[in-house]
Amino acid sequence: MARMQHDAITRPTPPASAAPWPRRLTRQVLIGGVAVGGGAPVVVQSMTNTDTADVAASVKQVAELWRAGSELVRLTVNTPEAAAAIPRIREKLLMMGVDVPLIGDFHYNGHQLLAGEPACAEALAKYRINPGNVGFGRKKDTQFASIIEAAIRYGKPVRIGANWGSLDQALAARLMDENHGRAEPWDAGRVLREALILSAVESAARAVELGLPAERIVLSCKVSGVQELIAVYRDLAARCDYALHLGLTEAGIGSKGIVASSAALSVLLQEGIGDTIRISLTPEPGQPRTTEVVVAQELLQTTGQRAFTPMVTACPGCGRTTSTFFQELAKTVQEHVRAKMPEWRISHPGAENLSLAVMGCVVNGPGESRQADIGISLPGTGEAPSAPVFIDGEKKVTLKGENIAAEFVALIDDYVETRYARKAG
Ligand code: SF4
Repeated sequence: MARMQHDAITRPTPPASAAPWPRRLTRQVLIGGVAVGGGAPVVVQSMTNTDTADVAASVKQVAELWRAGSELVRLTVNTPEAAAAIPRIREKLLMMGVDVPLIGDFHYNGHQLLAGEPACAEALAKYRINPGNVGFGRKKDTQFASIIEAAIRYGKPVRIGANWGSLDQALAARLMDENHGRAEPWDAGRVLREALILSAVESAARAVELGLPAERIVLSCKVSGVQELIAVYRDLAARCDYALHLGLTEAGIGSKGIVASSAALSVLLQEGIGDTIRISLTPEPGQPRTTEVVVAQELLQTTGQRAFTPMVTACPGCGRTTSTFFQELAKTVQEHVRAKMPEWRISHPGAENLSLAVMGCVVNGPGESRQADIGISLPGTGEAPSAPVFIDGEKKVTLKGENIAAEFVALIDDYVETRYARKAG
């Protein structure tokens, strides 16, 4: 079984500087060419919520998620129609220039679908299975083996993802029995955490016994509570060196889902735990599915793990600002740089590291603006109606009048053009 030496898995020492802790070194898994683990940057993934059998809708959403920055996209594969749709979805995406690895999410009938639709098994870049519902009773082992054999046959990696909501009941019962025999029984939460971890780790060991290389296994143990998730993953990371997928399952809707996911994942990422993440948000009505990708990127960027798009520092405003102008400017600037980033990523590599500030008044405006690559300090109530702009820490120009927003955005574009050299070709 893939297990690290004890001295290699103790918690790393925090760095003296304000930087994330060293990453735990896990085995690297290649998922359709995307490296996960082994020190590679933490990978952002997402999942569709279309009916996979609806090829047009699924292609559209996968493309949207990819354009937003999702590096892996998972789709439910729950019926023969969904399985048959996968190669068609992959083909249409490639025709659009969208070469994003697709992951098939299998429950209950994955063994049948992979056997019945070889083109699906081939088109997917990874299979995700849940040991708690891959099969029940005596069928569990043969159905699990059938999926692993398909992965071996088609050269695919597998995520073995245990989930609190679908825990292997036989394993949980076994551990409860063992717990009764302890001189000092664990509390029920600890027993269930142990069941979740063992479900993943023992299933991975079984997959290796069946012939799947450890370098083709990703593990996850998802729960919906923040503290439980942190406890489970600290333990899981200390007990194996498989690449780990992080996510707070069923995080919830709106700000609650964002805060809970960020709270749990940022602690783990800070400790070097986690090789790929997904933010499992329930979309608010009318909200795009891509929000989960934006949140994942912003989580990685604000914690210093990776850079995706220029970040805007903006003050919250207070009684010194009597208009919403600076809020609107902060929004305009963030939306502008996000919209420009796909182009800049190719033409001006490094632009994702640009830092911007939009501040509401003279109290913190000049100071914060000097810290950014480009910052603007707007006039608060009672101040002269002018907005000094700071570039690389120096006051360079003062904007006035009706066109401050357009002129500031133009300064940002000029800055990117000159600082991040245009790539030839
Ligand atoms: S910078 Fe000025 S407007 Fe913004 S929160 Fe601080 S005091 Fe208020």
